[in-house]
Amino acid sequence: MVQVDIELSKCTGCAHCRDVCPVNVFELKPRDQFPDLTDDATVGAKFQFRGEKSVAVNGPECIVCEACLFECEGECIIITDDEGHVHNSTYK
Ligand code: SF4
Ligand code: SF4
Repeated sequence: MVQVDIELSKCTGCAHCRDVCPVNVFELKPRDQFPDLTDDATVGAKFQFRGEKSVAVNGPECIVCEACLFECEGECIIITDDEGHVHNSTYK
């Protein structure tokens, strides 16, 4: 089964992942649902943190098209495919 993980401290809430995913893996949740989280300062120096965080609610449906990996501002999506290979985000 494919696993989709998100490093939430780096998620800017840009929603690009949700917008490009063909199988609706991602949902944006209000930032205040994660009160113990500290936003990543390195990402914050480059991008604005919005009021939401992305959660992979439907990871097993991922078809590893990799679209989200190139659109993720925080470079914080990590996908582990059926064979155990890890695919990391690289913002284009
Ligand atoms: S790699 Fe998976 S999670 Fe990312 S856009 Fe494609 S189907 Fe969606
Ligand atoms: S594309 Fe990356 S930074 Fe943007 S909302 Fe999705 S997980 Fe967060």
